[in-house]
Amino acid sequence: MKAIGIFSGGLDSVLSARLLMEQNITPDLITFTTPFFPPDKAIAAARELGLEVTQIDIYGELLSLIKNPVHGLGKNMNPCIDCHALMFRKAGEILAESGEDGFLFSGEVVGQRPMSQNSHSLRVVARDSGQSGRILRPLSAKLMPETEAEEKGLVDRERLLNLSGRGRRPQIALAEKYGLSIPPPAGGCLLTDPMYSRRLKWLLQQRETSDTSWPPARLAEMIKRGRIFSAEPGQWLVVGRNQADNQALDALMEKGDTFFHLEGGPGPTVLLPDLNIAATEATFSLGRSLAAAYGDNGGADVVMVRMGKVGDGHILVETEVTKPARWGDFMEPKECD
Ligand code: SF4
Repeated sequence: MKAIGIFSGGLDSVLSARLLMEQNITPDLITFTTPFFPPDKAIAAARELGLEVTQIDIYGELLSLIKNPVHGLGKNMNPCIDCHALMFRKAGEILAESGEDGFLFSGEVVGQRPMSQNSHSLRVVARDSGQSGRILRPLSAKLMPETEAEEKGLVDRERLLNLSGRGRRPQIALAEKYGLSIPPPAGGCLLTDPMYSRRLKWLLQQRETSDTSWPPARLAEMIKRGRIFSAEPGQWLVVGRNQADNQALDALMEKGDTFFHLEGGPGPTVLLPDLNIAATEATFSLGRSLAAAYGDNGGADVVMVRMGKVGDGHILVETEVTKPARWGDFMEPKECD
């Protein structure tokens, strides 16, 4: 018997797994990964439960739902109903492949989220995922129709809960009872973040919607970091704002990308990703100017900037230092930062 759980590592998903463990069921946990929600929280939470968690990358599929959502987007770029249906469809495929009897479960709570966790949406998710009757929500099970697992006696409905609404008090009390750490609420998915969503929307607009490979995952990662500037349509530069940004951008650099860095002093990573477009001198000039302006230039009027292609050496270019205030004209998307 398999109990396959969609597991984010948030409090509700942890408790749903823990409730099943109370019934001597050992859940198989799955966490889905994309640049929008990393697996770290799920891995740590699964470890606390003494369970393994399998990671499955759904970036490409989720991206096409963001571009063409069947049930629309939420307040930002989050196609939550479609996303849940995708996740349950994937989990259902894994259950079918196992050839074992079982069910799927998640930590969803009826009425907790206006768009994706009302009774209607939960039914739509079950239908669209092709898993109707197979999805158990342990925290709200008693408020929902019996699932196949409950009918067959695979799980004892009486020992499941009847939670609803947005409050977290019952969940916190339960976590305390089980001695589990309490993760902070939300903050998991960047598609619900207004700033990130604005950047993603801008990034999507750089290519035709029909270009299914756009944007590659590393660009969706890159726009989490730094400020973005553009001197010419389709050519853009990312400038790290702090050490964490710089390290992340350095790690994301690939062969063909162009970098700019203040020579002889600390400064941000300035990165021009290789987008298969021949960058113009206006873009190179902007990259050098940004490295000079945002680096520790010691008040000099002219500095040297190291500029090169990853894997292809570099040159030093004398660059005039211009005040950062000027760069607002080049900032993309316009409302960012
Ligand atoms: S918040 Fe993000 S991960 Fe969660 S359902 Fe919505 S789009 Fe998917």
